[in-house]
Amino acid sequence: AAKADGGRHRRYTADLDAGTDEEARLGAELRTALDQREFHLVYQPIVELPTGRCVAVESLVRWWHPDRGYIPPDVFIPVAERNGLIVELGEWILRTACRQYADWWRQGVAPYRFGVNVSARQLAEPGFVSLVAAILAETGVHPARLIVEVTETAVFGGGAAVRAVHELTELGVEIALDDFGTGHSSLGLLQTLPVRILKVDKSFVENVTMAGRHAVIATSLVHVANGLGLVAVAEGVETAEQAAELYRLGYRRAQGYHFGRPAMAQITPETATA
Ligand code: C2E
Ligand code: CA
Ligand code: CA
Ligand code: CA
Repeated sequence: AAKADGGRHRRYTADLDAGTDEEARLGAELRTALDQREFHLVYQPIVELPTGRCVAVESLVRWWHPDRGYIPPDVFIPVAERNGLIVELGEWILRTACRQYADWWRQGVAPYRFGVNVSARQLAEPGFVSLVAAILAETGVHPARLIVEVTETAVFGGGAAVRAVHELTELGVEIALDDFGTGHSSLGLLQTLPVRILKVDKSFVENVTMAGRHAVIATSLVHVANGLGLVAVAEGVETAEQAAELYRLGYRRAQGYHFGRPAMAQITPETATA
């Protein structure tokens, strides 16, 4: 996303607040975009350290607006959450990613697993788990292949979202806690939630090669993960130096531009079925 949006990006990074004109405009355009099929998915490898072998991919949604160009998901996903369109968009994302995975599987090039981001509202929506089960059945994807990525914030405070996480686990789907370390109550959640994967936010990874607070936190988080028998994934790894340092600290999974940028599915992951 960093390069693809040219100069337009700046216009949309300003905080949008519910009730503003821009929020309403973008919300209406999302409706059109769904009808006009303006969305597509890209996939980014998650690799094993130190080999760099791809063990999974994460799907990320992209929106190219016909007039306004690239609009980043950080901008439109929150709008879709607030106006409720995330439910329909999220279903499209899930079905598209599952179909793609089934396709890779048929071609014999599927990575071991694939991750799909699920937003707070989607997770708490009644019938979400049934929908996941139905899409897996419809596409013929085994539940154990799917990783649902949820943020700490989505599952903070219990309720429907937490129930959904438990039910997804019973279905055989794996749960990854996204942006780990940036939300509230991270460690408390690990006592009760059936989470298997901690995705350590790139803010901690960025400065991991320099002695300082971020490096200390990156180290602590991998110790927590390894100590609890969870898998820590370092996000946003951009250099070989970061990758080497993360490996030294105990990380065995990483994701970032250093290993591969999010790419269209035509470029199949260079990996065999595990
Ligand atoms: P995320 O789930 O934490 O996704 C990781 C983000 O980091 C992606 O940004 C990815 O392109 C970016 N990234 C990956 N490697 C690097 C790196 O080495 N350096 C840097 N600087 N960035 C890297 P993206 O695609 O713009 O997505 C931003 C956020 O939007 C995602 O954060 C996620 O919260 C949300 N999002 C994206 N796709 C979806 C989706 O399909 N559904 C939902 N609900 N949310 C999505
Ligand atoms: Ca994610
Ligand atoms: Ca993340
Ligand atoms: Ca994020």
